[in-house]
Amino acid sequence: HIDRDDDIQVARMKLPVVGEEHTILEAIHHNDCVIICGETGSGKTTQIPQFLFESGYGSPNSETPGIIGVTQPRRVAAVAMAERVGQELGNCRNKVGYQIRFDANVSEGTAIKFMTDGVLLREMMTDFLLTKYSALIIDEAHERNINTDILIGMLSRVLKLRREKAETDAQNYRPLKLVVMSATLSVSDFSENSRLFRTPPPIVSVPARQYPVSIHFNRRTVPNYNEEAFRKTCKIHSKLPPGGILVFLTGKSEINEMVKRLRKRYPLAKKKLYNDIPEVRTDPRNVEVETEEIEFGVSESTDTFEENDDFTEQDEDEEEEGFEENLEDGQTPEDPLYVLPLYSLLPTKEQMKIFEKPPQGARLCVVATNIAETSLTIPNIRYVVDCGRSKERKYSENTGVQSFEIGWISKASADQRAGRAGRTGPGHCYRLFSSAVYESEFSTFSIPEIQRMPVESVVLTMKAMGIDNIVNFPFVTPPKKEMIRKAETLLRNLGALDDKKNITKLGQKMNSFPLSPRFSKMLVVGNQQGCLPYIIALVSGLSVGDPFISEFEIVPKKDPEEQEEQKDYITEEQRNVLSKFNKSRAVFSKLDKFSDVLQLLSAICAQDHVAKADRMKFYDNNFLRSKIMEDILKLRKQLTYIVKINKGKGLVASASTVSDDELKLELPSKPQIMAIKQMVAAGFIDQIAIRADLIDRDVKLSNNMTISSIPYVTLLPTHEPDTEPNAFIHPASILCKSGELPPSYLIYESLNVNTSSETKKLRMKPLNDIS
Ligand code: ADP
Ligand code: MG
Repeated sequence: HIDRDDDIQVARMKLPVVGEEHTILEAIHHNDCVIICGETGSGKTTQIPQFLFESGYGSPNSETPGIIGVTQPRRVAAVAMAERVGQELGNCRNKVGYQIRFDANVSEGTAIKFMTDGVLLREMMTDFLLTKYSALIIDEAHERNINTDILIGMLSRVLKLRREKAETDAQNYRPLKLVVMSATLSVSDFSENSRLFRTPPPIVSVPARQYPVSIHFNRRTVPNYNEEAFRKTCKIHSKLPPGGILVFLTGKSEINEMVKRLRKRYPLAKKKLYNDIPEVRTDPRNVEVETEEIEFGVSESTDTFEENDDFTEQDEDEEEEGFEENLEDGQTPEDPLYVLPLYSLLPTKEQMKIFEKPPQGARLCVVATNIAETSLTIPNIRYVVDCGRSKERKYSENTGVQSFEIGWISKASADQRAGRAGRTGPGHCYRLFSSAVYESEFSTFSIPEIQRMPVESVVLTMKAMGIDNIVNFPFVTPPKKEMIRKAETLLRNLGALDDKKNITKLGQKMNSFPLSPRFSKMLVVGNQQGCLPYIIALVSGLSVGDPFISEFEIVPKKDPEEQEEQKDYITEEQRNVLSKFNKSRAVFSKLDKFSDVLQLLSAICAQDHVAKADRMKFYDNNFLRSKIMEDILKLRKQLTYIVKINKGKGLVASASTVSDDELKLELPSKPQIMAIKQMVAAGFIDQIAIRADLIDRDVKLSNNMTISSIPYVTLLPTHEPDTEPNAFIHPASILCKSGELPPSYLIYESLNVNTSSETKKLRMKPLNDIS
């Protein structure tokens, strides 16, 4: 029996899904798969797991003893929702747990488990039938993340198998129930896909109590949407009746900036209500990082400008729509504004503040990324300010080259964002772009991720699960055959697949690591000359992200493309910081002047010898990102643990029992350094670049060339349209500091096109030379 708090009970009763409890449970009872559509905020994520729990799912003595699994595309949502459902369950709160990549709080008694979809995918590798679950809820299916898509494809098969097993071996097996949840009605890719479900699953759609939202387009699309968002938010706050404001921007640094400005403009009576937000950063290199967490560092804007931009602010002001109402009695244009940021890297405690009541007399204003689009519903929002953009991970179809860009969202997303203003009453959505741009630049829907990204990890995972014919897999939307072929080629180059495209022993080993195939290859070959701990450290480093703060971040607004000319503009203070910076980097470069990975390894080894209490100071003094360094340490522990288990030395209970002391590394010896470089090369065997002058007589190097302007030719063709055919060393690389002619052959980690620079240079991030 569940004993809920009264106010929780009252709040639940108001949620649209509660009225559908019976219909939903009936549908689940009679069908193995059910699709549920409901407007964001209707209660799907918080209530449906509870419906299942209350009807016996997850209870040891019932017909359905297996636990209820709920997947989320975002870590934030998995943690926040587990917490909320725990709260709602009152006396049963300990029945809820969550599991994300670096963190878990599940126990024996857990009946409802929230997790990222990546976690569930990994569980399927050891237990394809997912026997410990009686029901699985796949949430946010409309987002069409690759993990969600693959899960649904696989689960469609698991449902069938569990049904068959239950009929032949009822002692040991029960059928599995699958609930696919979407915030939009466009679910035909799932429901009408006969390769996925032979009989179309029923769709329960929850009638939403959505109030009308008036949409106000800007007359012109202004290039600086941050400025415009600030102006609009101030205007709403100073002129319009009560109601929360939700501002959509694209990422952490923009959001923090906006929050700072708004807090300064409309201060709270009690400033103490705001906490300092700890600094956290990530880097594009980490495949597990969610796209919107990525900070570019350099100029970010990819705006489309409209011609004939001759309006003035006042001009716009006079005719601006959506300001017909007036302040209510008791409001003044200078009332305090309670401004909160919301993005994934924010500590959970700070994220949860959006659900609390704002201080007396203050208006709530949340400045958020996409998270607020469908994952988290902020209460009492009446005004939405939408910049119309989001961060996207883009891949070149020809080459797999990655770039991170701010781009227009889809019309479907823009409508979703507008809808956030109409949950509690009629609302307004202010779009910081013109209706002409909306019509011409915005696609109707976003393209599913699986059709945009390289699929090598997915292909390897699927091969390891015994899915031989990937081309015939019941994908929600099949990836291009071309992409599957490319992935298979890479996996063959790495030795993970044999000539018949079957998984090899090496491939199996590689797949036992929760890493992309290149990194797992490094780990598998790393077990020589005592190098394994170093490779574990490196793989963790390369997989989590770049811990080195770059020179260009220390001396702000310095464009790496023009580093030479700008030297004169730095202040005395900046000069001192730079000198400290250079000294520290010189220490980390001692192992090898041509190897970025050995620089990374030096930093990790150095950290190992710093006492825990002094680490923050060490990171600061050496210009290292603390969050990344700590995540590297966490991942090293996990990997060390996994390696031990793989070697049959699984005496350790969990990754957290691997101690810091156990990891402690001395600097590698000369022969070890040689070996490490070869092991790194083994993971990137297809990413070799040759200095252009060695193969092309027309290329001449001269003494006054900067190192970052020396051309390289990649072994595999990577010609992007509109880019120079050659690749150039990234200015942040150790090679640019060496002052020497860079090596003939380089192994590189990635190629990126800098879209904000005019030359569209192909920049390569080197790992090390081949000797
Ligand atoms: P859906 O999944 O359909 O979008 P949710 O179940 O996430 O809807 O949300 C239902 C309601 O619960 C929303 O009004 C939301 O604001 C509220 N809610 C969610 N989490 C919390 C929380 N931690 N504290 C207070 N209210 C919350
Ligand atoms: Mg939800």
